[in-house]
Amino acid sequence: MLNTPTTPTAYRGRIAPSPTGYLHLGHARTFWTAQQRAKEQGGTLVLRMEDLDAARCKPEFVDAIYEDLRWFGFSWEEGPDLSGAFALYTQSQRLPFYRAAFEQLKQHGLVYPCKCSRQDVMRALAAPHVGEEEPVYPGTCRESNSRAADVKEKISWRFRVPDGEAIFFEDGGFGEQKFIAGKDFGDFVIWRHDDVPSYQLSVVVDDAAMQMTEVVRGADLLMSTARQILLYRALELPAPAFYHCQLLNDENGVRLAKRNDCLSLRHLREVGQSPERLKGDWDFY
Ligand code: GLU
Repeated sequence: MLNTPTTPTAYRGRIAPSPTGYLHLGHARTFWTAQQRAKEQGGTLVLRMEDLDAARCKPEFVDAIYEDLRWFGFSWEEGPDLSGAFALYTQSQRLPFYRAAFEQLKQHGLVYPCKCSRQDVMRALAAPHVGEEEPVYPGTCRESNSRAADVKEKISWRFRVPDGEAIFFEDGGFGEQKFIAGKDFGDFVIWRHDDVPSYQLSVVVDDAAMQMTEVVRGADLLMSTARQILLYRALELPAPAFYHCQLLNDENGVRLAKRNDCLSLRHLREVGQSPERLKGDWDFY
């Protein structure tokens, strides 16, 4: 049988849920755009399970993700349940890859040990969605020149951002974007004090390793994209294209979150809603 090699330019996209709760209509909306864009280009859609937050991720939510996505009409070509050329597709099984990238950043002197703010460090595990952006880190540990071995407290590691540099990118959904390092966002956590990689590092390592050509996700991650572009550069990895989607709001204009139980896919199915009706005209995103 002839094996058709995938050219590096073939579209590869992903949906990357975190099993910290039931998926809601907002996730479905963003994921639908990701699926449509992959379909339009005859590309591959990957399902990646982002389960590094051991305290919040639960096996029942993993099961629910598969069930709810399939019910809604999603299908993917690679994922934890199907395997594929870029396996493994579950982040908790990919720790050596994150560790290697972290070591590379350390060797190049691009990260430094930081003993402040447990709270900021705790935040670093999850993608910073609307209202969850951390304050710009004041740089307390930046110039202390402390070596990890000399610091007694539990430490996290921060990426040193190039202060004042403007990070530009052309977003497929929102057009030209510009964020200033050190002003819009500061040195961010790469590795947590409890020895877990941060969202920013894991997502870059995986999107590069899985050869994503485009990342489709919610508009609340626009500023994270600027951080991630710095990481791609630091790790000498090619950055994908980005397409951010408008977020869905509830009737009070507040972004849908996992707490909006009545708009969870699970609940909508239980009350007899059909995916076709919920999707409406989404195919023309
Ligand atoms: N797992 C992340 C989330 O659910 C995905 C973020 C991303 O797509 O980069 O928020």
